[in-house]
Amino acid sequence: MTAQEGGCACGVVRYRVEGDPIFVNNCHCTLCQRQTGSTSVVNAFFESERIILTQGELGDYVVTSGSGGPHTICRCGKCGTAILSYYPRLGRLGAGLRVGTLDNPGAFPPDAVIFTASAMPWVSFPEGIPIFEQTYAPADILPPERLERLMTMVERRKAGEG
Ligand SMILES: [Zn+2]
Ligand SMILES: [Zn+2]
Repeated sequence: MTAQEGGCACGVVRYRVEGDPIFVNNCHCTLCQRQTGSTSVVNAFFESERIILTQGELGDYVVTSGSGGPHTICRCGKCGTAILSYYPRLGRLGAGLRVGTLDNPGAFPPDAVIFTASAMPWVSFPEGIPIFEQTYAPADILPPERLERLMTMVERRKAGEG
């Protein structure tokens, strides 16, 4: 299984992530704009066990997600760089990894550009990547193998895990 490495801005936190993401979103919603101070965020979603912290510690910072539940952003305890997030739907079973923290941030191109309705008006979107004004149903764009990984986590969550 191929692996990528990444870390925070100060170098204290380092991680390894194994295999391919289930899906990658480039999100232009206003919450992501506020959390990053930028046009959008790129999150690669993985089963949490595929993201291995190899150095340093993360601290939890909880904000409210778009759906109203807790969105936990895990940041370097020293410099505050956001490394990954947990969302209400999957709890801690699955994490959205901030693609910009990879040593090779081009490794995981987005599967979808989402919430373009709230994109900053001067932003342009990439060619060849599906674009959605809001969001999408995973079954509409994910290959079966990736959809199955997602549904496995959804079932585990329903069974009380995470
Ligand atoms: Zn740091
Ligand atoms: Zn967003």
